[in-house]
Parts: sequence; C-alpha cells; structure tokens
Amino acid sequence: MSCNIISLSIVIFCLVLVYQGGIDNTALYWTFPFPLVLFAMLGYLYGSITNGIVFVSLLLMLNNQELLIAHYSDIEVIRFLSSFFVVNILSFINEYFREHSHSAMTDINITKEQQANTDILTNLPNRRFIDAVFIPASKANVPNRFPMVLIMGDVDYFKSFNDNYGHQTGDLILEKLARTMEQSIRDEDIVSRVGGEEFLIFFSNTDYDTGMKIAEKMRSAVSGMRLKHETKELKITMSFGVAIAHSYNEIDSKLKEADEKLYQAKNAGRNCVC
Ligand code: GH3
Ligand code: MG
Ligand code: MG
Repeated sequence: MSCNIISLSIVIFCLVLVYQGGIDNTALYWTFPFPLVLFAMLGYLYGSITNGIVFVSLLLMLNNQELLIAHYSDIEVIRFLSSFFVVNILSFINEYFREHSHSAMTDINITKEQQANTDILTNLPNRRFIDAVFIPASKANVPNRFPMVLIMGDVDYFKSFNDNYGHQTGDLILEKLARTMEQSIRDEDIVSRVGGEEFLIFFSNTDYDTGMKIAEKMRSAVSGMRLKHETKELKITMSFGVAIAHSYNEIDSKLKEADEKLYQAKNAGRNCVC
C-alpha cells in the first residue's frame, strides 16, 4: 500500500474517531500521535498541508458539535485544540530537522563515494571506479555500452622525467596529461588513471575504426602538448594499445589484449597507437 493511501486512511480514521467519540468520549486524547505519524510518512511539506487540513476539519467539527455523535465540553475542546496545535508545531520542527540532517548525510555519503572513486592527483576516475562501478554497470546497460573500445595508455619514458626534473614535475605532467586526454575525447567517454603513469580509456557504443581515430587524436594531442620546466620545454609522448569488446563477458580478455597491444606500441618505438 502506498504512503498516500495509508495517510488518507489515517486522516479518515482520525476524523471518524472524533465524530464518533470513541470509548467514553475519549477520542480527542487518541488523536495526538497522528500529526507525528503523518509528518513521518509525508515529509514536512505534504505533512504540513495534510495536518493543516486535519486541524481545520477538527476545528470546524468541534465548533459544530450538533453534527457529531460525540459530545465534548467547551473547556475540553479549547484545551484539546490548543495542545493539538502545539503537537503539530513540535512534529513539524522534528520532521524539518530530521529531513535536513538526512539530506546532509546523503550529500556527505555521495561526496565520500566520489572521493573514493577519484584519483587525487589528476581528478580522473580511478581503478576502484572502473572495477566497482563502471564495469559492473556495463552488464546491465548492454545496448548503450557495446561495442566498447578499450584503450591502455602509458606515458613514454616517464621515469626519466622524474629522474631529470623531479617528482613534482612528474606530477604536473600527469595532471596536464589528464586534462589533454579529457579534451580529446567525447563527453560520454571515460578516461581513468589506473596506475602510476597508466591510463585506461573506454569508448562506449563505438566501432573499432572510430576508436582508433579518437585514440590517434589523443596521442597527437599529447605529443603536441608543451610543458615548461625552467628554461627547458618538455616533450611528452604516450603509447596506446586498443582492443574492442562486443559483450560484457569479453571485457577481461580484451583488457589483456589492450595491454599486449600497448607493449607492441612500446616495442614499435613508442608514441604510437597499436
Ligand atoms: P616506458 O616508456 O617503458 O613506459 O618507460 P617508463 O619510464 O615510463 O616506465 P617505468 O615503469 O620504468 O616507470 C614508471 C615511473 O612512473 C616510475 C615511477 O616513479 C613513476 N610514477 C608512478 N606514479 C607516479 C606519480 O604519481 N607521480 C610521479 N611523479 N611519478 C610516478
Ligand atoms: Mg611508462
Ligand atoms: Mg607503466
């Protein structure tokens, strides 16, 4: 049963109870929990509207007691309406803060999840994102993902940049590379950093030729990138291995193939796409 039907049943039950009077005309005392329950079920916005309607209905009913089966004394009605009003206000405050702290908790969880899935240096998705989110999601999203082009990219002679210009310059190169690669791919494509200077790239719903073209565009953008270190201009290149998966079950073997192709690209002299 949906929340709306249960809430409507509660409202009707509350009004009928007051109309009928309950055992020994004690109905008014049994209505106090209803505002809290309605706020909890409907949230503070719709809970306020519904509780407002209930309050006005009770006000009208208790001021026209000739229409009711029950009979309540004037002083009982005044005490009930004022305390019922206070219960409504307190229930509203409780629900308002409960909802706000719940949404703050949700925001914190989303931020933590994003941080856990993001590489801190380059801000790219990391290996955890690929293994725990992207690849499992491909299983459920077959028409939009396959054929899927998988590319392993690795920076050429990266160690020498660290050795010659320092680790900090190496980090700057990785950050710049990440931005350059992101700019050469399409919005729907994913470039992730999966190791020190290794990047795994996915083009969903893409055929092999298009994948090769985008990979070549990426390689060319990287080799055209210029980074200044003191008076020197550093020239960075990357090698890429490309494979294509036609189904979820092929992903593992095609990742291995992309890795093998990357080594072919290294052996072929680097700065190329295999
Ligand atoms: P190849 O062309 O064969 O790939 O040579 P390479 O020097 O790039 O490969 P190698 O595996 O020998 O070296 C990778 C280097 O990447 C070694 C390591 O110090 C460096 N590295 C890994 N992670 C980071 C990082 O986060 N920052 C920096 N600055 N360097 C890193
Ligand atoms: Mg390398
Ligand atoms: Mg490497």
